[in-house]
Amino acid sequence: MTLPPWKIKVVEPISLPGPERRREAIEDAGYNTFLLRSEDVFIDLLTDSGTSALSQEQRAAMELGDEAYAGSRSFYRLEAAMQEVYGYRHLIPTHQGRGAEHLLARVLVQPGAVVPSNLYFTTSRVHVELVGGIWKDVSVPEASDPAAPFPFKGNIDLVALERVLHEHGPEGIAFVRQEACLNMAGGQPFSLDNLRAVRALTAEYGVPLILDATRMSENVVFIKDREAGQADRSFRELILELASLSDGAVFSSKKDHFVPIGGFLALNDDELAERAREVLVVYEGFAHYGGMAGHDMEALAQGIREAADEAMVRHVVAQAAYLGGLLAERGIPIVVPVGAHAVFLDAKRILPHVPQSAFPAQSLAAALYIAGGVRSMERGIVSGQHGDAPYDGLELVRLTLPRRVYAQEHLSYVADVVEAVCSDAAAIPGLAFTYEPEHLRFFLGRFEPTAPFPELSVRESGRTAPALVV
Ligand SMILES: *Cc1c(COP(=O)(O)O)cnc(C)c1O
Repeated sequence: MTLPPWKIKVVEPISLPGPERRREAIEDAGYNTFLLRSEDVFIDLLTDSGTSALSQEQRAAMELGDEAYAGSRSFYRLEAAMQEVYGYRHLIPTHQGRGAEHLLARVLVQPGAVVPSNLYFTTSRVHVELVGGIWKDVSVPEASDPAAPFPFKGNIDLVALERVLHEHGPEGIAFVRQEACLNMAGGQPFSLDNLRAVRALTAEYGVPLILDATRMSENVVFIKDREAGQADRSFRELILELASLSDGAVFSSKKDHFVPIGGFLALNDDELAERAREVLVVYEGFAHYGGMAGHDMEALAQGIREAADEAMVRHVVAQAAYLGGLLAERGIPIVVPVGAHAVFLDAKRILPHVPQSAFPAQSLAAALYIAGGVRSMERGIVSGQHGDAPYDGLELVRLTLPRRVYAQEHLSYVADVVEAVCSDAAAIPGLAFTYEPEHLRFFLGRFEPTAPFPELSVRESGRTAPALVV
């Protein structure tokens, strides 16, 4: 058992709105869970982004925020924490991960240049494409198979990568990107072995290797648990080794670093860092705060150290495994193995009667909200780009776990809600767009159901908390 290495000091009240209000709310939201008001949500598993509980150390550190425009002490403390834990030379602070992706795309991507990556992340890909780059998926085939028990679905297919590197040559490649705990595949890790091999290839071809290190801490848990010879190495040593195998990294600190806002670009190359700072001051802010306030940088500096604390990170991963276990036990199709920060429901298998052109994952997410006030997120074709075709990719609903926020009872309730929806799955309709944005359409897109949603009700099983009879 992985017990939480914390106890709760401050609580936020939550309540379940009635069934009629839930139907009204999801209709008002255009059947898009992003457009629900949080006051209408009971258990909020939309995202792990910026939703973690801060520690008392982070809150205390925030009092030390130095809001100087330039030369802020908070910046230097943040830089020191990043260098201590990750070892990169330069820290370029941004308001969140996509700010760092924007800078990176501006300094490294020429029109027509290729970015090979394990699958993709929505904002990462958009920034590359907006400056004229071409995204190329070089993930292992298991990454796109929700039922494959492969332990390292975040790996890059080395043969596919070498083919792309050979075909385009160093001048045609902007950088190679490898994402830790690959979100789009279900939070799946890469192995140290694979990263080393990717490093060797990129070095041979002379192209930069940039990590999306947003969930690097969690990736290290899986390396320790699953990769031969790594179990006894220290958590910090492994983090440092992963970072040392790359030329730089993008971090959304709203995930592993336990902060509501923040992120950064880390680079080793002096000249590249200089160029990134030139773009930074145009789009984000001065080099000593980017898009963050001084107190944000203090919370982040402390959060980076907590993300290097193995017990803290293990509990996050264990909660996902716990929820995944509850669902698997009830025969609900989920992505296996369970990844880092979330459990992903396989909407194609739950709603086989809804074709992908009618957005089964989007519809399943709406049904979970109607049934029990649980907010989740679509990770399927709606999250892809407009015109992604053919419709044959993953169609998942993500139940994402905010870090240090929900108790086991909440997760048990979520499992009951999912089970209830699955038992009425045949009556759940598909959806059609009523408003389709050009980019990142999952954020603001609106839908209508192709037929009315059925009555969906939840019987709490309480199955995970058997009462002790004395
Ligand atoms: C969240 C995320 C991003 C983007 O970061 P934001 O902080 O949301 O802008 C980039 N990459 C990955 C893997 C992410 O999960």
